[in-house]
Amino acid sequence: MSERVIELSSAVAVLASPREIALEDWTRFRGNVAEILGAFGLPLDTPPTRDTPERFLRALFDATAGYDGDPKLVTTFPTEVTGAVEEPFAQVVEGPIAFSALCEHHALPFVGHAHVGYVAGERIIGISKLTRLVRLYARRFTVQERLGEQIADTLVRLVQPQGVGVRLEASHLCTRMRGVEEPSRTTTTAWRGVYRDAALRREFLELAR
Ligand SMILES: [Zn+2]
Repeated sequence: MSERVIELSSAVAVLASPREIALEDWTRFRGNVAEILGAFGLPLDTPPTRDTPERFLRALFDATAGYDGDPKLVTTFPTEVTGAVEEPFAQVVEGPIAFSALCEHHALPFVGHAHVGYVAGERIIGISKLTRLVRLYARRFTVQERLGEQIADTLVRLVQPQGVGVRLEASHLCTRMRGVEEPSRTTTTAWRGVYRDAALRREFLELAR
């Protein structure tokens, strides 16, 4: 087995780890959510709100589906491969890719969009897979900085490109809904490989504007 095959199969292992919640656990969680929501002021005995604890749990589970991995990202990967790219610094930039994530400090959403770019090595990946890659790590409890780093590192592992650039811009509800209530936007970047080149970064950021 070549080194590349070993590396790809380890990526497969990282990407696929579906969660399983036992029914008895889920039932207990629903009771806990009902207790909290009720104590904080939500009347739970009306037709529209009776199932709110269940809906909240399901929504939270869906919003964290990144922990389940994305089999499509993995299984379709080999079919996306084409021949060598000869242009040395031709970049593929995809975006804006809308994403929603949950900040791990407050478990509240931060929402925004990503731009993901790479300069191919001998392989490329389907454009739609870049969107899947963003969502794989956004649908988790995370922080914006780590999200960008994970997207960059996984893209490096999947296609072994010459370089990767990631730019994320997001608004954090934990600062909008409480505390300072600032409608701020936070921008982060992550760079790998040939993106250490300032001109390449500049071109990426112009395309990402
Ligand atoms: Zn927060």
